[in-house]
Amino acid sequence: TERTFIAVKPDGVHRGLVHKVIERFENRGYKLVGLKAVVPSRQLTEEHYADLKSKPFFKGLVDYMSNGEAPVIAMVWEGPDVIKQGRAMIGATNPLQSAPGTIRGEYCVSVGRNAIHGSDSFESAEKEISLWFGKAGEL
Ligand code: ATP
Ligand code: MG
Repeated sequence: TERTFIAVKPDGVHRGLVHKVIERFENRGYKLVGLKAVVPSRQLTEEHYADLKSKPFFKGLVDYMSNGEAPVIAMVWEGPDVIKQGRAMIGATNPLQSAPGTIRGEYCVSVGRNAIHGSDSFESAEKEISLWFGKAGEL
């Protein structure tokens, strides 16, 4: 059965959205199999977003994730098609393009403060789960 990495970002934590995210995934029928609060090091954030290294917003993204104003709530969710379904529940990267009813479409307006992360493929889910939680056996 499939697993994905979902993280409530510092702005989402600061704004009290953790319970809403958990509620949506639980209501859908997914199972929470890992959860922790962590202020990620710059190195962890840079590895997590390694694909975006060349983007002009990369440094700002790393600063924002790692500055410690609020932790990231890192989660692993399990269930049928959870990677793709989780992305659909989260909504488009830019909240101004996220459909109403999605998490970003309900709770955000800024691409730089879009509240939540979800793995975008099987490969990134595997990479991100081991990056944030260690090997699967340590969950
Ligand atoms: P995430 O990986 O966080 O789930 P995503 O997969 O929807 O988001 P990515 O292209 O992977 O989108 O971008 C990662 C994050 O980088 C975005 O969620 C957003 O916080 C930030 N980001 C993306 N584009 C921009 C931008 N144009 N300006 C500022 N920040 C951006
Ligand atoms: Mg992404």
